[in-house]
This record gives sequence, structure tokens and C-alpha cells, in this order.
Amino acid sequence: MQLSIDLTGREVLVTGSEHAARQAVRRYEAAGAVVYRLSTPQGAAHDGPLPERPFLVAAVEDGQPGWDSLLGRCRDTGIPVAAEPAAGAPGHVTLVGGGPGTTELLTVAAVKALRDADVVFYDRLAPYQELPSLTSAELVDVGKKPGHHKVSQGDIEKLMVESALAGNNVVRLKGGDPYVFGRGGEEVAACVAAGVKVRVISGVTSAISVPAAAGIPVTHREVSHMFTVVSGHAPLTEKEHQHLAGLGGTIVVLMGIGTLHQLAAGLRRAGMRADMPMAVVERGYRPGQRTTIADLGTVTSAAAGCSNPAVLVIGEVVRVAEANRGHAEAAADLDRLAASLLGS
Ligand code: SAH
Repeated sequence: MQLSIDLTGREVLVTGSEHAARQAVRRYEAAGAVVYRLSTPQGAAHDGPLPERPFLVAAVEDGQPGWDSLLGRCRDTGIPVAAEPAAGAPGHVTLVGGGPGTTELLTVAAVKALRDADVVFYDRLAPYQELPSLTSAELVDVGKKPGHHKVSQGDIEKLMVESALAGNNVVRLKGGDPYVFGRGGEEVAACVAAGVKVRVISGVTSAISVPAAAGIPVTHREVSHMFTVVSGHAPLTEKEHQHLAGLGGTIVVLMGIGTLHQLAAGLRRAGMRADMPMAVVERGYRPGQRTTIADLGTVTSAAAGCSNPAVLVIGEVVRVAEANRGHAEAAADLDRLAASLLGS
């Protein structure tokens, strides 16, 4: 159960050892509460004064014996006690797949890792705008720096490792899935080389979810029984065009706007039909999401105004979306008709 209560100016007593309670303290402070601390059931010298009757006790599950009787007394006198998870052991890195850009498509594990973070290094493709509501961690944008220079991959790895070695729980939040054109493998290797504990939380990749946002299934029975995910960062070789054209399945291209012209021409040279349907889906799950439908022969001019981030889909599955859209529109027409008949 989740409850939202306005804690502005309210006295909250956070119980639990310093390390285990550090994130709960930050969360309650960020919520505007006046936070008091009790780090052992007996109280410690550094805890400072205690409130006479706190509005709420936030009890961090730190594993120390002896809290039960104190918390029991609070409950008996009508002070609500909220159980708070302990912050994990400090000093590790979690690579988190953030999905295609909406918090709706974060995994439960991603939400938990964000909540437990001390520092989050994030990219612009991850759902970064809503981070303040998901974590009390320090937020560091490594997608762009003032002056619009990207932080280099080497510098990102150095920042992550140094922060973890300084004792922080570090989350590296990436767009989509960390292992799909996300350089996740390199970041894991950097942590391992520095002796820093690291784990990876898979994310919803844009390769599947962005076509889906436009109604395009990457596979469909009797239409396509395979899909190939390709990076369009650099132009493909002639041999790769031939292989792709020969497969007969769906082709999904990420980072493909800059090389769209070469790809379409290459696939045509490799024998793919000019009327093979294509879709360009820009800004999936974000404001301004747009789908451009064309075919291999016309896509270069049809997509002239398209920009990154965008996912390209080449294959007959694009027509499935078209057909489904037709049905959806027909259903909506029927609904409108029924509504107007009932209304009259
Ligand atoms: N690891 C990511 C991909 C990183 S490469 C993943 O699994 O999704 C970056 C490319 O992903 C972009 O150039 C674009 O092709 C695609 N992309 C990511 N998010 C997108 C979105 N919301 N809409 C459209 N394309 C997106």
C-alpha cells in the first residue's frame, strides 16, 4: 500500500542505525519533515534531542535487536509507525535499464534500485524528468554537461567507480536495456576491473517497445517469425545488407536516422522490394510521439523531417499495425454512432 501524506513541518522520528537509515532520513527531509534521529534503541550521544510526541515514527529495519518494545510503546500511545527498508550495503554499482522514457515502463527492480541509491548517473534517454519523485539520491546528468559536451564514456566509468569506492550506492540509469547498444558490458567491466560490486537490471528495450507504441508487433504469426535489431550508428556493409534482405523477417534499426538513406539504398541493391513497408517511430512514449509510414522506395523523402530518437521498422508487420489501426478506427466510429443514436 502506498499513502501520500503532507509532512511539511511535521516532526518525524527516524529510528535505525546511521548507515541503514541514511536514505530514509533524506526521503523524509526531502518531504519537508522535521527529522529527529534515534540510531540505537537506547539512543546515542550524536542523536540529539527527541521530540515529545512525533507525528510519525519511521522505523528502519536495520536488524538491531531491541526496537520492538520501543515501537510497541509508540503504537500503544497512538503514534503511527511506518516500516522503512534499510539502505543496502554501501559501495556498489547497479546498472539499471530505464525503458524507453516513461516511468510507467520502469521495472519493479528499477524502482527499488532508484529508491536505494545515493547517487544516480543518468542519460537523456532514460525517464529522467521524474527522478526526483523516485529517489532522494543526488542526480547527475552524464548525457550532457553545461556547454552541451557529452561526458565521455571513460569519464562516466571513472565517476561511477570513484563514487562507489567512496561508499555510495550508485545507480547508472540508462535508456531501454543496458545491454542493447547501451555500453552496459563496458561499464560492468570497468567496475569489475576496479573491484567494485556491480549488478545489472534489465530494462524494456526501445527496439520492441517503441514499435509497439505505434501499434507495430515485431513478430506476427504467418507474417514474420524473426526480428533483427541493428545499429544504424554507422552504415552497414554490402554483405550485411544482403544478409538482412535475405532473412525475410522484421528489421528494427536503432540510431538509424543519420544512415537511413544508405540503408534503404543498400537493401534495395540487395534485392528487397521497393514497396516493402517501413515505419519511422520518433519519440516513443514521449510528448510529440510521431509515426511516419512509407515504403523502402519512398522512405528517404517521406522521413526527411524525422529526427532522433527514432526507431525504424522494415517489414510486413508494419501493415499489421495499419490493419489494426483500421479496425480500431472502425470500432471508434461504431462507438460514436452508438453514442449518438442512444443520445437522440
Ligand atoms: N539501450 C537502448 C538503446 C540505446 S541506443 C534501448 O534498449 O532502447 C539509442 C537509440 O535508441 C536511439 O537513437 C533510438 O533509436 C532508440 N530509442 C531509445 N528510446 C527511444 C524512444 N523513446 N523513442 C524512439 N527511439 C528511441
